[in-house]
Amino acid sequence: MKIMRFLKEAQEKTGLLENNKIIELSCSPIEAINSKNIDESFQKDMNKLNDVQILPPVSPSKIVCVGLNYSDHAAEINMELPEEPIIFMKPSTSVVGHLDNIIYPASSSQVDYEGELGIVLSKEARNVKSEDAADYIGGYTAVNDITARDLQRKDGQWTRAKSFDTFCPMGPCIETELDPMNQNISLKLNGEFKQKSNTKNMIFNVYELVEFISNIMTLKPGDVIATGTPPGIGPMNIGDTVEAKIEEIGILKNFIKKS
Ligand code: MG
Repeated sequence: MKIMRFLKEAQEKTGLLENNKIIELSCSPIEAINSKNIDESFQKDMNKLNDVQILPPVSPSKIVCVGLNYSDHAAEINMELPEEPIIFMKPSTSVVGHLDNIIYPASSSQVDYEGELGIVLSKEARNVKSEDAADYIGGYTAVNDITARDLQRKDGQWTRAKSFDTFCPMGPCIETELDPMNQNISLKLNGEFKQKSNTKNMIFNVYELVEFISNIMTLKPGDVIATGTPPGIGPMNIGDTVEAKIEEIGILKNFIKKS
């Protein structure tokens, strides 16, 4: 099922997305995911997808991101495969939703897209083994790990480059049932394909990532892991439209605007 959040009459709502219609639910997205079967008592009004403003599907306390995690991307930039995941974080304040603007910071002159599969945690996860990780994963969303590449190079560490407000678009929904080991992932800039790969090319799969990260820090329900980007990363300009697509989730579309 596809779970989303949207704004209706200035109120945040949870919805179940079916055939371009949103069935409004009287629970949070994480409650909807954990209930497995959505009881009819959860179901309220029906809305047309085009009539609502879509919000990010969750409000994570943190977004943990993986650096180099696609073997085809490692080959592209001539890097050896890492022995362990390289992780960094984006702040919760960087999150925006589908159709929101990405603000190009005045302090940067190279802002790149990175289309990624996002893992959404549905339970508190601490010291989880990879074989148990599926129990802690509520579903998956699309993430665009926006990066001020020049500032990343200049600073040596990545916090500034990755953390600007609007630098973590995610959505449009959480798909609870997809196979994370075999999803086509792609990204278009102004309608032209820039990234095309499949999650089977990940160096560390989603379950290994949950094990690695949950042995460092407790992951909370709603936290998101951005699992790394495939080959083809590149810059965007003010006025561009960027679309990250995960086969069974849908398209996460955003617009680059001047600060
Ligand atoms: Mg990335």
